Amino acid sequence: MYDVHKIRSDFPILSREVNGKPLVYLDNGASAQKPKVVIDAITRAYSQEYANVHRGLHFLSNLATDRYEAVRGTIAKFLGASDENEIILNSGTTEGINTVAYGWAMQQLKAGDEIILSVMEHHANIVPWHFLRERQGIVLKWVDVDGQGNLDPQAVIDAIGPKTKLIAITQCSNVLGTMVDVKTITQEAHERGVAVLVDGSQGAVHAPVDVQDIGCDFYAITGHKLYGPSGSGAIYIKKERMAEMRPFMGGGDMIKEVSKDSVVYNDPPMMFEAGTPGIVQTIGFGTALEYLMEIGMENVAAHEAQLRDYAIAKFQGLNWLNIQGQAPGKAAIFSMTLQGAAHAHDISTILDKRGVAVRAGHHCAGPLMDHLGLSATCRASFAMYNTTEEIDILVDALELAHELLA
Ligand code: PLP
Repeated sequence: MYDVHKIRSDFPILSREVNGKPLVYLDNGASAQKPKVVIDAITRAYSQEYANVHRGLHFLSNLATDRYEAVRGTIAKFLGASDENEIILNSGTTEGINTVAYGWAMQQLKAGDEIILSVMEHHANIVPWHFLRERQGIVLKWVDVDGQGNLDPQAVIDAIGPKTKLIAITQCSNVLGTMVDVKTITQEAHERGVAVLVDGSQGAVHAPVDVQDIGCDFYAITGHKLYGPSGSGAIYIKKERMAEMRPFMGGGDMIKEVSKDSVVYNDPPMMFEAGTPGIVQTIGFGTALEYLMEIGMENVAAHEAQLRDYAIAKFQGLNWLNIQGQAPGKAAIFSMTLQGAAHAHDISTILDKRGVAVRAGHHCAGPLMDHLGLSATCRASFAMYNTTEEIDILVDALELAHELLA
């Protein structure tokens, strides 16, 4: 039995008030709140078990290294990877995608080669590819979503040409909530010799992930959206692809030997982890994933599907509310505009007065905003601890915003 009230009690911040009202936290797409086990793990790491990791000979360094390195295995388990050496620890999806852009694509692609992107990518999965466009003459090809926000896998496959080398695609839109059939895209892409990077920053939060089942070459995740600390994350990279990569950040930890004339790199994945890492952030991230796996991602997904269906039913009665993205099976992420000229920032300010935290803006998705013909939306994004009662409070607050701004 999924006990949402028990889960809520695991998150200390959820019992606070904002503007004299109980907090209704619906900004999970930007960052999720942290359970007490994660906060405790951070406190324990700093108060009892802290030192720099790797190469240390003293007790605390060895302990911190063990705690830190154990997270590689936890992430591999969470993502269904068969080997923890396919996991590069980092600060999040942005770093992960940049690692692939600099470490793999810059070596493997040449001028005129193509990368396919969907129009609903987050800037983290756009701007690193623009670097390659600007600096190496790589061509970016865009695939649109339909009026409901669906991304037809066939449209992605049809965009593949003889020069296509990579498809870089989100598993879940952070604006529309659309879930993408990344498995079909990967299968078809591989038959045509094209590699696939999946941006799992949102996707991994809302449903179980199995990178072996998807078959993708690269899968990036963000710790702070998965109830872990900010500054934590990872990217799964298939062994064969990792072998094709060159390190893009140089420094300590990623080398075996350095002399005036030469450098011998460490073995992968450490070859791609230069400098002192986010030690405690990563340890906290491992605890967050253990917490999630204990609850079960399939249970989280089922709970969020209930929230999504409840919200859709409630929103249907509001003829002045536009929801961007109606794709079947979408995640519980709702980008909203009100009919008339109400600005998303004004709506979110009114909601905030009712204790309801939502995000307003372009959500780091410029091409999608252009496609929708909007400059901003107000986004309510749900998490494992949200309730249907909170949706009622959101709807009341939206009604107030409509009354005041219409
Ligand atoms: N990709 C998607 C779909 C996202 O929603 C986000 C964050 O909002 C990112 C990538 C970037 O994540 P981070 O800023 O944590 O690296």
